[in-house]
Amino acid sequence: MKEVAILGAGYAGLRTLRELQKQDNLHITLVDRNDYHYEATDLHEVAAGNQPKEKIIYPIDDVVDEKITTFIQDEVVTINSEQQTVELKENELLHYDYLVVALGFETETFGIPGAEENALEMVNVKTAEKVYEHIQAMMKKYKETKDKKYLRLVVCGAGFTGIELVGALHDGLDRYAKMADVDPSEIEIYCIEAMSSILPQFDDNLTQYCLDHLNEWDIHLLTSSPIKEIKPERVIYSNEETDKELEAATIIWTTGVSGSHVIGESGFNEKRGRVMVNDDLTSPNYNNIYIIGDVSAVMDKEGNRPYPTTGQISLQMGEHAAKNIAHQTKGEATETFTFNSLGSVASIGNTHAFGYVGSTGVKGYPASFMKKMIMNRSLLKTGGLKEVMAKGRFDLYH
Ligand code: NAD
Repeated sequence: MKEVAILGAGYAGLRTLRELQKQDNLHITLVDRNDYHYEATDLHEVAAGNQPKEKIIYPIDDVVDEKITTFIQDEVVTINSEQQTVELKENELLHYDYLVVALGFETETFGIPGAEENALEMVNVKTAEKVYEHIQAMMKKYKETKDKKYLRLVVCGAGFTGIELVGALHDGLDRYAKMADVDPSEIEIYCIEAMSSILPQFDDNLTQYCLDHLNEWDIHLLTSSPIKEIKPERVIYSNEETDKELEAATIIWTTGVSGSHVIGESGFNEKRGRVMVNDDLTSPNYNNIYIIGDVSAVMDKEGNRPYPTTGQISLQMGEHAAKNIAHQTKGEATETFTFNSLGSVASIGNTHAFGYVGSTGVKGYPASFMKKMIMNRSLLKTGGLKEVMAKGRFDLYH
């Protein structure tokens, strides 16, 4: 019986598990630091306090078939590719015949001074919850002190994550205002972006739709403003070659992500925690190691650069890795991975979204509906029908 180890129970890892559990010639060990899976695409809703964490998580045990799979809740320390072992923090060394590395993403600070110490991150359930706890505490502080800095929320970076967070914060305004005992219009939301425009992957029409909303909602979007440093309660950025300072008690860092630090520490040839994998998703040097999800880079031959990391590509990689492991255990050749993009949709608030479904531009409520359907589909593919019924997005929050 071959031993498969899957590291990480995110979109990629759980999708692999669900597929591999259909085989009868394997034993699988799944490792994750948490005993739950979370919908990483919804973290901004928890950070803004619009959804409780329970709405975006479900127990890993719900997916584990105990006849085939052993789940170990632990932290992965390093992978030894030569010895075919994985070092865990609390448990004994794990031996594998096939390994699936799906360890997900971490915050990327690009070495900007003070970002780690003085800004809040939003990369997992715990850090997203911390953001909302912080916002609540700052609103209370305003009530006591009347210092305007407590009413200022700054999102650093206007990528997908930053824009979705800004929309979610806007949705939370009435609630924050009650906590601070002010009119919602007194709470200021800033988004600071290095580039001169936002979301270059979208056409002008869709970007304008987003900009119009931000404008209508009085969001202060500062473009061409690279952030140089984060001091306690202060963002230092440059604009037209002049350094500027913005005082704010809530600063949230969303300027990009890198793959898990375990990748670099395990000696893989990587860039920002991502490994350029072979066409069949195996590691360049080891054909029994699959590297998938946010720690993986697959070339988009048309775009001549790696595909961006998304939940959608992670799910497809998970399915493909499982298929190739099944081939290998039967002595068959592996297949080349091809990404079949269903499109990409960004939400701005609960009822507005914009993006592409396939190659068709969509915006407004239909886009928001499509986004919820895409999420339900991913929930179905990782968790199954039970999780869709319990956690699916069928309506609005209220
Ligand atoms: P990103 O890299 O896409 O965006 C980060 C933004 O921060 C960029 O616009 C960048 O110019 C800006 N930035 C970087 N350094 C800066 C600085 N010093 N000062 C000011 N601005 C700075 O990162 P992300 O938004 O976290 O997204 C990560 C990945 O996840 C992407 O591949 C994205 O496509 C994906 N994602 C997808 C969705 C979706 O499909 N709805 C949602 C969230 C994230």
